[in-house]
Amino acid sequence: MMICKFCQKKAIIRLPYARLSLCQVHFNEFMVKKVLKSIKRYKMISKGDRILVAVSGGKDSTTLLHILSLLSSTLNIELYGIYIDLGLGEYSEKSKQKVKELFKLLNIEHVIVDLKESLGFKVPELSKLSKRPTCSVCGLIKRYVLNVIALNLKANSIATGHTMDDMIAYILKEFILGNYGQLVKLKPKLEAIAGLMPARIKPLVEVSERESLVYALVNNLPIYHGECPYRPQESIEVEIKSFFNMLETRHPGIKIQFLRKFFKGEAVNLKDVTLGEIKKCSICGMPSSTDVCALCKLIYRIEGSYNRILEFLDKINSIELLR
Ligand code: AMP
Ligand code: ZN
Ligand code: ZN
Repeated sequence: MMICKFCQKKAIIRLPYARLSLCQVHFNEFMVKKVLKSIKRYKMISKGDRILVAVSGGKDSTTLLHILSLLSSTLNIELYGIYIDLGLGEYSEKSKQKVKELFKLLNIEHVIVDLKESLGFKVPELSKLSKRPTCSVCGLIKRYVLNVIALNLKANSIATGHTMDDMIAYILKEFILGNYGQLVKLKPKLEAIAGLMPARIKPLVEVSERESLVYALVNNLPIYHGECPYRPQESIEVEIKSFFNMLETRHPGIKIQFLRKFFKGEAVNLKDVTLGEIKKCSICGMPSSTDVCALCKLIYRIEGSYNRILEFLDKINSIELLR
């Protein structure tokens, strides 16, 4: 029997990179401490911060909200939750139920944005009408809605459930494709731009998907196991993840070493690379690198006018906070 390094009880997980086997109690403690350390290492959170946590119903963002809520008094932060119903059929319906359960369980003030109700289109409809790939439309909508709601709630930052495995996959992908300018967006904390964009933080940056799954399971958190039906079966990210997991089995610790070295900025000086100039969209006032933002352009492409955007903003800005 595998036993816990700290209490000799039965271990539920073995973490080769840390040379530890841990029981449930000590695994929970380990995870909470680890997230706290990452938050400090990358200076993600300051006292008094109001944080909007984006929860999808999957294991990662669910684990994230649970851990942040355990840390909320230590860090002296206020948490808000958000779920965006993107209109992806059964996947959205089922994940929404899980997220609602979670908000209730943790007593988190939250907003639920229904895209069809507020914009008039579901993600697949937007994608079809604009002839743009579903995943890119979906990413665009998520970034936009998170930004609007966070500004409205006067949140200092938006927290997402991106894990170490996600970050490694994104970094290598952008690197392989030669999109070096994109690498800066992958920092654990992207600084806020006053009045335009709250900071974006990734507190699970040093947590693996395996750890976040085990955490959600042993704590019986409500999670939806289904996968988005529009998610491509094969992608560079998925392949990089499996390659790195193979490396990790043979060389425990290689994933975290890679990430920490990368964020130190020796290979790519992340301090000198910036997001480029961020302006205010001349139509909707949200951040954009061009005069008119990507969502306004998308809607114009479909409708030949921008009217819908302003209505959409009004609607989502007046969604009530639920408890
Ligand atoms: P993804 O883009 O699906 O890999 O998700 C990355 C992160 O975005 C998740 O960890 C969540 O924090 C957030 N997220 C994804 N989908 C939603 C959603 N429907 N509502 C709110 N947040 C989401
Ligand atoms: Zn123990
Ligand atoms: Zn705009």
